Amino acid sequence: MTKEFEDKDLKKEDLNEFNNQCEECKKEDESVSQNLILIGFKICKSCRVSKTVFPI
Ligand SMILES: [Zn+2]
Repeated sequence: MTKEFEDKDLKKEDLNEFNNQCEECKKEDESVSQNLILIGFKICKSCRVSKTVFPI
């Protein structure tokens, strides 16, 4: 019963891992997945700089 839910969740995470496309500028960069883990935003490093308004 819970297995189906876990599989679904895992799939979603895998998709995020492989998709390094920045949600801001739509460019692909390996820093996107790093920022997703670090700050919770799917953005590249250059967009992260412009988003430093957010308290971390
Ligand atoms: Zn970007």
